[in-house]
Amino acid sequence: MTILKVSGLIKRFGGNEVIRGIDLDVEKGERIAVLGASGSGKSTLLRCLNFMEMPDAGTITLDGKLVGHREAELTLVRQRIGMVFQQFNLFPHMTALGNVMEGLRTVRRMSKPDAEARAERELARVGLADKAAHYPAHLSGGQKQRVAIARALAMDPELLLFDEPTSALDPELVGEVLGVIRSLAEEGRTMLLVTHELGFAYHVATRVIFLADGTIHEQGTPDEVLKHPRRERTQAFLARHK
Ligand code: ADP
Ligand code: MG
Repeated sequence: MTILKVSGLIKRFGGNEVIRGIDLDVEKGERIAVLGASGSGKSTLLRCLNFMEMPDAGTITLDGKLVGHREAELTLVRQRIGMVFQQFNLFPHMTALGNVMEGLRTVRRMSKPDAEARAERELARVGLADKAAHYPAHLSGGQKQRVAIARALAMDPELLLFDEPTSALDPELVGEVLGVIRSLAEEGRTMLLVTHELGFAYHVATRVIFLADGTIHEQGTPDEVLKHPRRERTQAFLARHK
């Protein structure tokens, strides 16, 4: 079953064409690792998929329905596609619990007790039941990122997008976040993960995509792309990230 179908996606910033005709089908249960050098368009691709950036051309189909540009449709898509950012993007003036509750209250229009109960469950799932009352400033980077993951999960997304979720973390905090992502993988969640953690990608991804200059330069199984890359730029990238 195809959850997301992207055809001919193009995104420009001024005269700079950053995404240059990407076609991508995401099947339910797939875990796609997206690799590529800095500036290759990884973040822009993810942001286009949940319409944080408006594509200039191409179509995005979610569950067989073409996503139009009406605000109501975009709001629905953003609910169904959860996103986790490198810089966490938590609301600093809200506690961990408040951050996870926010979308449940404002988008889902859940009652306060229901939203609270749900948010507590999501925090427990990422191992942060005891941090519910803490503000982001009093959480470690790894804890902040786990709150961000709990916030995304609370919306029951069909697809999770992770944009370098561990790149801003101190090395000793990377493992706890990768552990949560691994457990989501084991649950069969569908995800697109931009990462430079190649070992993690090798073990957790079902498919690896290498982006270069806003196009899919090479893709295949983790073994094909990470161990036996066919194209020179993929090989050079992997040599730099050993
Ligand atoms: P990556 O995530 O692979 O490092 P990005 O998608 O962030 O790459 O960026 C790809 C290119 O698009 C870069 O050249 C970057 O400078 C440019 N870019 C990204 N976002 C914007 C923006 N909002 N305005 C102008 N240029 C942008
Ligand atoms: Mg990026």
